[in-house]
Amino acid sequence: MALDEYKRKRNFAKTPEPEGVVAPKREKRFFCVQKHLASHLHYDFRLEHNGVLLSWAVPKGPSLDPKTKRLAMMTEDHPVAYGDFEGVIPEGYGAGIVMLWDVGTWTPQTDDVDAALKKGDLKFTLDGYKLKGSWVLVRTGGRFPGARSGGGDRSWLLIKHRDDWAGELDITEFAPKSVKSSGDFEDILAADNPAIWHTNRPAKGGDTGAMFNEIIEKAARLKASRSSGAEKASRASSTKAADTPAASKKKKTAPRRKK
Ligand code: MN
Repeated sequence: MALDEYKRKRNFAKTPEPEGVVAPKREKRFFCVQKHLASHLHYDFRLEHNGVLLSWAVPKGPSLDPKTKRLAMMTEDHPVAYGDFEGVIPEGYGAGIVMLWDVGTWTPQTDDVDAALKKGDLKFTLDGYKLKGSWVLVRTGGRFPGARSGGGDRSWLLIKHRDDWAGELDITEFAPKSVKSSGDFEDILAADNPAIWHTNRPAKGGDTGAMFNEIIEKAARLKASRSSGAEKASRASSTKAADTPAASKKKKTAPRRKK
């Protein structure tokens, strides 16, 4: 595994994303999901393997319902250091806002992950704050001809297996915020530079463009209220505390459901 594609797509003088190094093997395998508002909203699902993060972009995000199969497009391997990243990518590849939506460890349900990947059928368990239990990634193949390798083999499905952690709860709606900062996209942008996309924003039209407009305006208001005097600042922070459960960062938010 190498990080050549990761490096080729980025200019590290212009992006806050980490530069790529292959990490030493660890006892526990890390996983994360990064909610990424770029040209379209998607969830980047990443599993640590052989010193890098195997990565899939899941447009609709993971579903806890075994009947709901979610398209997962395999993307380039990312450095393990990326797994902690949350912030604003001002321009270039992936320009937009990255939120660390879930983190934890994963365990393959096979002794040979490489063989499972090659076969296109990787079963594993997750132990995150939001995602838990048994899952599978299955390559569908052929649905997107012309993708990398010419065979459309980037197309997979992410499916929850039936267990105590499965259910009909919409986890992306139920737990939409960051496990790192407890904030939403506007909080992440407000901590950076809300004016960054006054011209040339990552998406202009459609639902994504509207989402960007709203987040940029909210972030500007947050930043203004925080920097304009103690009274306003305290009001802004109490508002933030009110819609950010104090426990959300530490507490496991996925409710256990009985079969
Ligand atoms: Mn992404």
